[in-house]
Amino acid sequence: MLMQRIKSVKAAEEALRYLPGGVDSPVRSLKSVETPPLFIHRAKGVTLMDVDGNRFTDFCMSWGVFILGHGYRSVDKIIREAVFNGTSYGLPTPYETTLARLVNQHVPSMEKVRFVNSGTEAVMSAVRLARGYTKRDLIVKFDGCYHGHADHLLVAAGSGVTGLAESSSAGVPASFTASTVSLPFNDFDAVKELFRKKGTAIAAVIVEPVPANMGVVLPHNGFLQYLRDLTTRCGSLLVFDEVITGFRLTMGGVQGQTGIRPDLTTLGKILGGGFPAAAFGGRADIMDLLAPDGPVYQAGTLSGNPVAMQAGAATLQALVRHDYHEQLETTASDFFTDLSKAIRGKSISLSRAGSMFTLFFTPRTPTSFAEVKKADTRRFGAFFRYMLEKGFYLSPSQFEANFLSIAHNTRDLGRFVRAVKKFEEL
Ligand SMILES: *Cc1c(COP(=O)(O)O)cnc(C)c1O
Repeated sequence: MLMQRIKSVKAAEEALRYLPGGVDSPVRSLKSVETPPLFIHRAKGVTLMDVDGNRFTDFCMSWGVFILGHGYRSVDKIIREAVFNGTSYGLPTPYETTLARLVNQHVPSMEKVRFVNSGTEAVMSAVRLARGYTKRDLIVKFDGCYHGHADHLLVAAGSGVTGLAESSSAGVPASFTASTVSLPFNDFDAVKELFRKKGTAIAAVIVEPVPANMGVVLPHNGFLQYLRDLTTRCGSLLVFDEVITGFRLTMGGVQGQTGIRPDLTTLGKILGGGFPAAAFGGRADIMDLLAPDGPVYQAGTLSGNPVAMQAGAATLQALVRHDYHEQLETTASDFFTDLSKAIRGKSISLSRAGSMFTLFFTPRTPTSFAEVKKADTRRFGAFFRYMLEKGFYLSPSQFEANFLSIAHNTRDLGRFVRAVKKFEEL
């Protein structure tokens, strides 16, 4: 079956006249996988429907947002009711406190929380706060970790930006990134060396505790604890960017699994229940430095949006009420056992954390960005196009994660595994 893309192609032509690249976020152009445009009409459960009427089983799930599947009933219901009462007031609502309390309950290191509109904004604000608190400038990040597109964090930033040359973006003055150092992920010695030389100048170490924006890469045993120990010793803050991993791996994120308590945490994606909401939070003594009580300025017209807050709370409540993480883990572990068998002998490796995974087109599972970059992206492109033709929409880059939701059933997953098995055996 060769799918029709007449309406998608036309939609893209029209979009290109008014939107640079025809998209609002670069990876959506499907350029890196050399695939014609895909314009979406609607989504339900695990199914994405494009404007031509093609249906795909979604393994991107809006980049991990929809852990309950698209259009989960109780969340949809709340959203409809919320919209009825108005969609923004420019004054506080009890819904912000409800969601903040839920966040604090499941991620106790987030003693206080501030809501913002995107992961980018959350990280940017957390970094400003870390600098304000420590009165230091230097920020340490890791190669291949993505923390949104704030100027000073676009250094060796993985995923959508790996296609671009040098400093991850044009338009960023060298002076803006001069206070950012990027080290190889999982490299104990590099961290030790930097702390030995500059420890007392480091405001914060920011890390995706399980990186997903270079594809899923697992931290070595003890690496995160090592970051905790060194930052504590030098008076620097440890920031966990759990925008993807928060509420994905467990309700408590990576910090809940490992018992490592960061000073600040950023959340996004699942948190907003499908709306543009994100958060940063952490130690109360640090958070209280934010305006209006403190000198670190941060604000937002639509921050803590009432519809987003209620959609987010409904999502978290559904996850807890039905113990969905346990269900997801059972489904996922069977799926990954089968998927591992299906890729045998194909020079593909599977990297997995909970319900997120990457199929790397390298024989050995990468543990750093340098290893990730050895993946055969041309072969990945062929795989992406093959899977799309079979009716599966994967995250459209070798350097991204795929996501399962509780809406993926064993039939969907079985079909996926069989398709992968047939790849290159045609
Ligand atoms: C998605 C993501 C961001 C950026 O969030 P946006 O809402 O896209 O701005 C930041 N950090 C991590 C770890 C992410 O996965």
